[in-house]
Amino acid sequence: MYKLILTVLAFCLIQTCAAKTVPSQGYQSFDGYQVIRAQARTLEQGMSLINLQRDHPSLDFWKEPSLTDDTDFMVPSDKILEISQYLSLHNVEFYPLIKDVGQLIASQYDGYQMTGVREPISWTKYHNLATMYEWFQNLTEAHSFVHVYTIGQSTEGRDIKVVRLSKDPSANKPAMFIDSAIHAREWISLATVSYIMNQIVNNPEDNALLDDVDFYFLPIINPDGYEYTFTTNRMWRKTRSRNSASCYGVDANRNYDYEWSSCSGCSSGVCTSETFRGDTPFSEPETEAMRVFIEQSKQSGVNFQSYISVHSYGQYFMLPWGYTPAPPADYEELQMVANYVAGNISAVYGTEYTTGSSSTTIYPTDGTSQDWAYGTGLFKYVYTAELRDKGIYGFILPPTLILPTAEETWAGFKVVAKHIIGK
Ligand SMILES: [Zn+2]
Repeated sequence: MYKLILTVLAFCLIQTCAAKTVPSQGYQSFDGYQVIRAQARTLEQGMSLINLQRDHPSLDFWKEPSLTDDTDFMVPSDKILEISQYLSLHNVEFYPLIKDVGQLIASQYDGYQMTGVREPISWTKYHNLATMYEWFQNLTEAHSFVHVYTIGQSTEGRDIKVVRLSKDPSANKPAMFIDSAIHAREWISLATVSYIMNQIVNNPEDNALLDDVDFYFLPIINPDGYEYTFTTNRMWRKTRSRNSASCYGVDANRNYDYEWSSCSGCSSGVCTSETFRGDTPFSEPETEAMRVFIEQSKQSGVNFQSYISVHSYGQYFMLPWGYTPAPPADYEELQMVANYVAGNISAVYGTEYTTGSSSTTIYPTDGTSQDWAYGTGLFKYVYTAELRDKGIYGFILPPTLILPTAEETWAGFKVVAKHIIGK
């Protein structure tokens, strides 16, 4: 007995015996789930993937069916054989991208801050909502140039917060608006955006940008969904509004009032779909709060120039439009800046990004924040960033990759900041 205790103590000394993170009871298991990557190269193969998506609501599409890009979707363990047979029958090439989603998530638990206990923020972990909001509060208490707005409440009553970094708001300097975590499971988007905020606040060289630019961050547009990914379901994407007794959530990034529901296959009218657009544009209190804040800020003189919506995954830096393959009016300038962004990202760790209009680079979409921000004329330099990786981990990017992802992304975004001030 003593020997056993001594052995455990010795092990603890070596390992420091940190408390293991364990998810709450009822955290959905994805044991045995696979992510399959399919590659449609002909119209028939593309149609067979669209039909597969339509006929199998239990498949979670991580990347929508596309002829120009890979199509990734998560398959429950009891459906793998059936889906494999279907793909073979339709001559679609495919392979398992992630062999066990549950195992991959469990292997990262120590990098998830899942409980309500607040910890100092770091970029080696994914933090929950309470910790993020407490950090915003600490920033505003410590620095006069940080201001936190509560711009509304989510469906479940959580605050939606914008953080403004500005040394002189009344000067109406060119302003950037950056948001993240509209899709709840895209944790790396928030981790990266919070890193950027921290750099501007605490790194003197980046802080000097505030001499010329104001920054507005909406780091967690979808707080209900984000919280839900920590308490209940790591793979949740949508909001948490209730559409019917058994159907929750709207894809907030199909809910904006610009060309809403305007193109076939660009969003879904079925509430169980991951791309459900909602019953009306701005049906979600989260997107509505963002609309009102941006419009009112603009009316009161804020000089918005650039809007970047941060997502994962795929390594793309994309410009409008989503709803049409036609190039936007400012195509050449937007594309040129996007190429510089991609070059700067690549210069840090060699990570390769693809640039172009979102409809032609990944797949067509409608009612997105990007098309709304550009189409209404509220912003000119409008982009959607899809951060790391290209699918090895997909949405389940390991915590060890937060820092390199954040560093290279900030190196890229700085190009946009400098462009809008002519530097
Ligand atoms: Zn997304």
